[in-house]
Amino acid sequence: MIDLHTHSNFSDGTDTPTHLINKAHAAGLTGIALTDHDTVAGWDEATAHLRPGLSLILGAEISCQTADGISVHMLGLLFDRENQELSEMMARTRDNRIGRMAKIVARLNAANYEISMEDVEAQLSDGATLGRPHLADALVAKGYMKSRDQVFAEILHNDSPFYVSHYSPTPEVAIAHIKAAGGVAVIAHAMSSLRGRVVSIDSFESYVQAGLDGIEVFHRDHTLPNRELLSQIADEYGLVKTGSSDYHGNGKLNQLAECETELAEFEKLEARANARRVIKR
Ligand code: AMP
Ligand code: ZN
Ligand code: FE
Ligand code: FE
Repeated sequence: MIDLHTHSNFSDGTDTPTHLINKAHAAGLTGIALTDHDTVAGWDEATAHLRPGLSLILGAEISCQTADGISVHMLGLLFDRENQELSEMMARTRDNRIGRMAKIVARLNAANYEISMEDVEAQLSDGATLGRPHLADALVAKGYMKSRDQVFAEILHNDSPFYVSHYSPTPEVAIAHIKAAGGVAVIAHAMSSLRGRVVSIDSFESYVQAGLDGIEVFHRDHTLPNRELLSQIADEYGLVKTGSSDYHGNGKLNQLAECETELAEFEKLEARANARRVIKR
């Protein structure tokens, strides 16, 4: 049982990497990928606290945006963290998320929400990637809302007037950087219409040309017809099919290991990286 997409408190998850490793071990997983948004900052802690019998697949979930403004999340796995272009791309996104947050906060202030950047930063762990969930937590702490879910449903969703985007590479550029760093690229929750507009089926051809390795087929945001369609696309292009929880600790309903990647599929994926980088203890 492999869960190929999870978050720690180095982005918008609520568990430390150590806690995440312990939970994965207790759940009987044989493999877990740590894929915080636009960062590798949690890798060392996860590696240091790895448990026997559990393979650690290090990665990041790269925020992307298409030319027509559609948000896409690209999982980069098993890449070389020393690759300069990839780490600069993630650093640029992280920096841009700060100014973007200030703009969202200003829009909320104009609508009479009393919230400051300091309130938001108080919800963020040291060295973590800033995101809307931290703003949601600040609004909950101030008593405006009851949960992250409520905040996203009411005021922070992608079509909300308070929404501001941040710099992100295109999916093709992100794939190219992940591949150049020796890793593999898997498009995450590609048909999660809950999150706003999604890319058309036609776009996959361009992603495959850029080097896409896999499609996250099994994800709670995908309906059965979505899964069937994505599975067909994967077969058509010879891509690997993955499944994962997209676990965020108690920041989301998603439960660790609720969707999984088959070992045979993971092995195909691993073989597409330029080196053996799975960590075992
Ligand atoms: P951002 O990266 O700042 O644009 O924020 C997007 C993140 O918010 C995603 O990675 C999701 O994990 C999280 N998110 C989206 N919708 C919800 C929700 N309803 N409840 C909790 N977290 C959410
Ligand atoms: Zn997230
Ligand atoms: Fe995502
Ligand atoms: Fe995610």
